Amino acid sequence: MERSVLVIGGGVAGIQASLDLADKGVIVHLVESSPSIGGRMAQLDKTFPTNDCSICILAPKMADCYGHPNINVLTYSELIGLEGRKGRFQARVLRKARYVDESKCTGCGECLQKCPTKGIPNDFEAGLATRRAIYMPFLQAVPRVATIDREHCKFLTEGKCGVCKKVCKREAIDYEMKDAILEIEVGAVICATGYDVWNPKVAGEYGYERFPNVYTAMEYERLTNAAGPTGGHVVRRSDSQEPRNIAFIQCVGSRNVQLNHPYCCEVCCMHSTKEAMLAKEHKEDIKTTIFYKDLRACSKGFFEYVGRAKRDYGVEFVNSDATVQEETENHNLIVSYDVAGKSERREFDMVVLATTLIPRDSMPRLAKVLGVELTEFGFIRSKDRILARVETSVPGVYIAGYCAGPADIPESVAQGSAAAAKAVEALVEARVSA
Ligand code: FAD
Ligand code: SF4
Repeated sequence: MERSVLVIGGGVAGIQASLDLADKGVIVHLVESSPSIGGRMAQLDKTFPTNDCSICILAPKMADCYGHPNINVLTYSELIGLEGRKGRFQARVLRKARYVDESKCTGCGECLQKCPTKGIPNDFEAGLATRRAIYMPFLQAVPRVATIDREHCKFLTEGKCGVCKKVCKREAIDYEMKDAILEIEVGAVICATGYDVWNPKVAGEYGYERFPNVYTAMEYERLTNAAGPTGGHVVRRSDSQEPRNIAFIQCVGSRNVQLNHPYCCEVCCMHSTKEAMLAKEHKEDIKTTIFYKDLRACSKGFFEYVGRAKRDYGVEFVNSDATVQEETENHNLIVSYDVAGKSERREFDMVVLATTLIPRDSMPRLAKVLGVELTEFGFIRSKDRILARVETSVPGVYIAGYCAGPADIPESVAQGSAAAAKAVEALVEARVSA
């Protein structure tokens, strides 16, 4: 146990922590609640500040993680109990039945084509596409193994169907599979469970779900992605036409005291700048406008990046709050804003909302299991924001990435490495004192 670490969450922060530890000879149990590792970075199209393809950077790390002899990747699993202390923790992990034998499935996808149960919202595609009852979350999923959704599968709910079992030549389908509980002993724990995207529907002034051509930024990332639901074509929900101009609205639900999100989510100014710039790569003559309260520089090179957006991509920045109260007959959006105290209105073909990012809804439950404190906004509280950023109030339990509060990818990676270093320190201390 004093040579092993539990990492919770297989996003970029958890992957980085796992690889750093494993390369030092530490055994890692990486627990990921969804069927694949990768987290949010796998959903993004390109990443600021370099505008590189997100999955192209991440996929090799995902593969390294899964193939590493020192990493035991437990997908579709959750931590349900933790006892003991730094150097000697006993963890209980729930492995949910995926009804597909991981050691037999080759990810050929035949069952995915034949399953008759369609129309289930696809979370990875931010709800812009649907999936079937048996599915693989995305093309580069790791492991590349199908999962049966027990709530929708006809065989598991009604005892009818069985098509996937019939078509699977590898005999990987197992409807009898049961959830299992694993007992694991580890010397330290790293929590890297990331964030959720806030649903702006409750803030009626942005028109989300009221007007079809209003999107969240995560939906827009999937829309621009070549592997996304439209094959990378930016087209409108209402008529499948390409927009000629797009408005990006900042701070949607962020820095908002009434909603208990007074914090800045620290990535939206950058990701909207990226999205507005890259829209040009999809349609050269497109016009993009960003409505912002303040442009917040949270990463190195931010101002140069914004400068490039203005200079090389012609992105317009308007310093104003903005709302979407109306749409026209052909579903264009009327954006209302203020300039120098004067109310203005402008018509756009599409609106993209930079919604705030919030703690996962499973966070209070997980915090209770870990014994860690949460901030007033629900992120995990650092022992000291300045001097002990990746430590928590529980010795031997560390944090990395967005679950500890707003952080972009470079910062999440740096925190993953810092948490791994702290975990090694804990293992060494445990060995010395044994
Ligand atoms: P996540 O990516 O959220 O990963 C957390 C993982 O933990 C997930 O796999 C999740 O399934 C798993 N998990 C959750 N709960 C549990 C649990 N209880 N048990 C086990 N596993 C669990 N940043 C940039 O630097 N560049 C960009 O271009 C950029 N663009 C962005 C665009 C948008 C629209 C948004 C919303 C964000 C963007 N970001 C960008 C921010 C970036 O997504 C985050 O910085 C990064 O994903 C944080 O990584 P993470 O590993 O902390 O969390
Ligand atoms: Fe789909 Fe379930 Fe039928 Fe398999 S048994 S094909 S998962 S509905």
